[in-house]
Amino acid sequence: MDRQQEFVLRTIEERDVRFIRLWFTDVLGMLKSVAIAPAELESAFAEGIGFDGSAIEGLTRVYEADMIARPDPTTFQMLPWRGESQGTARMFCDILTPDGEPSLADSRNVLKRALAKAAEMGFTFYTHPEVEFYLFEQPVSADKPPVPVDQGGYFDHVARAAGHDFRRAAITMLESMGISVEFSHHEAGPGQNEIDLRYADALTTADNLMTFRTVIKEVAIEHNLFASFMPKPMAAHPGSGMHTHLSLFEGDRNAFHEAGSRFELSRTARHFISGILHHAAEITAVTNQYVNSYKRLWGGAEAPSYVSWGHNNRSALVRVPMYKPGKGNSSRIEYRAIDSAANPYLAFALLLTAGLKGIEEEYDLVDPTEDDVAELTNAERGALGFRPLPTSLGNSLNIMENSELVAETLGEHVFEYFLRNKRQEWTDYRAQVTPFELQRLLTTL
Ligand code: GLN
Ligand code: MG
Ligand code: MG
Ligand code: MG
Repeated sequence: MDRQQEFVLRTIEERDVRFIRLWFTDVLGMLKSVAIAPAELESAFAEGIGFDGSAIEGLTRVYEADMIARPDPTTFQMLPWRGESQGTARMFCDILTPDGEPSLADSRNVLKRALAKAAEMGFTFYTHPEVEFYLFEQPVSADKPPVPVDQGGYFDHVARAAGHDFRRAAITMLESMGISVEFSHHEAGPGQNEIDLRYADALTTADNLMTFRTVIKEVAIEHNLFASFMPKPMAAHPGSGMHTHLSLFEGDRNAFHEAGSRFELSRTARHFISGILHHAAEITAVTNQYVNSYKRLWGGAEAPSYVSWGHNNRSALVRVPMYKPGKGNSSRIEYRAIDSAANPYLAFALLLTAGLKGIEEEYDLVDPTEDDVAELTNAERGALGFRPLPTSLGNSLNIMENSELVAETLGEHVFEYFLRNKRQEWTDYRAQVTPFELQRLLTTL
C-alpha cells in the first residue's frame, strides 16, 4: 500500500466516513458512481471493484462485460453536501480490464495517454475552463419551455436574485472541495451564469469539471432551482459554452510565452494554435457532441462558427486573451467552440493532440484577424481562408470519421463507439417532424 492510500484509509477512520463513492465517467461524459463500505476499501485499492460494464455507455462490448474500477487515492474528497460526520467521500477511478490492464474504453485513460505524449515532448498541459449554464425555476420539464430564474444580463447585479445565493453557496462548496474558483458572474442570457475555474493540469481540471457539474446540480436543488448545462436551451438566448484556456509548460516555464514577439506568443504557441485550427473541424463532434450543440455554434451570440484566430476577437474560434507584459506565465490561448456538455477528458485529449500535431509538423500559422468573422460575406471568408465549423452533428461525424488524429487519440474502441452512438442520435433527430415544420407547412400546403 502506498502513502496516499494509507492517508485515505486513515482519514476515513478519523472522519468516520460511512460511504465511499467510486466515480468514473462513461464515453459521453456522464458521471457514474458506485458506493462501497469502508471495509472494502483496502481490497478496492489492491484489486479494484468488479462491475458489469455492459450496462454503461461505451465501456464494453456485451461479450466482455466484466470491468474493474480502481480508485485513485490522490482524488480523495469528502462530499460536503452529504454532511461532515458519518459522511460520504469520493474518489475518481481508473477503469481496468479483468487482466488489470488500463481499459481502452476509459475516458480518463484517453486523456492520460494524451498527457503522456505531451510529457514525452517535454510538456505539461494546463487548462482553465469558463463554464456557462442556466438556472431555471422548478419544476423543469421537457414538455414546456424552461423559465429562467431572473431577467439579468452580462455582469448584471440582480438585486435579491436567486442567482447570488446560489453562486455564493456553490462556490463555497467548490472551494471546500479544493476546487478554486477564479471568477463568477451573471452571463448574457436571463438566468445564465458563468463560473471560471482556476487553471490546473488537464487531468485535474477534467476531474474538477465532473465534480463541478455535480456540485452545481446539487446546490441548485438545495435552492429549489434547476441547473442545466444544455448547450442551447432557448433559441432566443445565448447558448452555454465552455471556453477553455490552454497552455503548455516546460518545467515551470510557460512554453507559450516569448517576450517581444507578437502577442508575446512563442513559436511553440504559434504551431499549437495552428494545429488546433487545422484539426478543429475533426474534433468538433467531441467538443460539441449533441444535436443541440450546433444550435449554439450557429446561433450567433458570441459563439464561434468559423475557423479563425485573433487577439481579443470574440468571433474567433481561438482567441489570445489580454496578456500582461512581464507576466509571461499567464500566456495562453482560449478555445471558444467547446460547450458545457462535452466529455472533458476526451475533449481536452483532442485539443492537446491537435496542438501537439501542429508543433510536431511545424504547421504554418495564418494571420490573425480582428474582423467579426460572422459579419463577412461568404466570398470574403473564402478569400481569407476562414472555413466553417461543422454545421450539424451529422456533418461533424462525417468529418470525424475520416480523422486519423481523432482515431489515434481516442483509440479504436472509443472512436467507434462514439461514432455509432452519435450516428444513432443524428438518425433519431432526422426522423422528427418538428413544430417548425408544422408551423410553416401544415396549413399552407
Ligand atoms: N455564451 C457564449 C457562447 O456560447 C459566450 C459568451 C461569452 O462568454 N463571451 O460561447
Ligand atoms: Mg468568461
Ligand atoms: Mg462567458
Ligand atoms: Mg472567455
